Amino acid sequence: MYGLPAAGKTTQAKKIAEKYGMYHFAMGEKLREQIASGSELGLKIKNTVAAGLLVPDEIILEVLRDVKKQAVETGIIFDGFPRIINQAILLDQMLAEVGLTADAFCLLKVSSEEVEKRINNRIALENRGDDKDKSVVENRMNVFLKESIPLSAHYQEKNKFYELDGEEPIETIFKKLCEIIEK
Ligand code: AMP
Repeated sequence: MYGLPAAGKTTQAKKIAEKYGMYHFAMGEKLREQIASGSELGLKIKNTVAAGLLVPDEIILEVLRDVKKQAVETGIIFDGFPRIINQAILLDQMLAEVGLTADAFCLLKVSSEEVEKRINNRIALENRGDDKDKSVVENRMNVFLKESIPLSAHYQEKNKFYELDGEEPIETIFKKLCEIIEK
């Protein structure tokens, strides 16, 4: 699942994980857990996440340590990963090592006005530090705007790219995602 902040990636990924018994791998959540635990890795990435910038790939690789086993055992719905072309290539390599490939890359499209509305609503619900500062949200949106074209092209070349209207009702989007998964 890929898209702007608050596009609905986690909402849909959770529903997919529940329906198909897949492991829900939410990269942002894993990174926030590391930060909250005060681990060495968490300390290294605290400022980067707080600023809405991308965590370096060597740290992302550490967080992905158990992913191959999980991919084989249950399948994985990734949420917020890959976010840049290099991560997509890393993922291709990791999956190839266990004889798998990524099935679909789904971009949830939402307008920047909708992002602003949703982030304002989410502040009250989730209390995420990176939602509260407008310039941090802007950084996160800029990362998306910069990386989305090469990343989408990578999956378009493989016929694995799907773009969905993230402003449709949750259940409508979910139905479309299920059709993609079951294809
Ligand atoms: P999210 O919960 O998906 O909105 O991600 C929150 C933050 O975690 C992002 O703004 C980044 O700082 C960091 N992050 C999440 N996923 C990645 C990723 N795949 N690569 C690098 N940084 C990431």
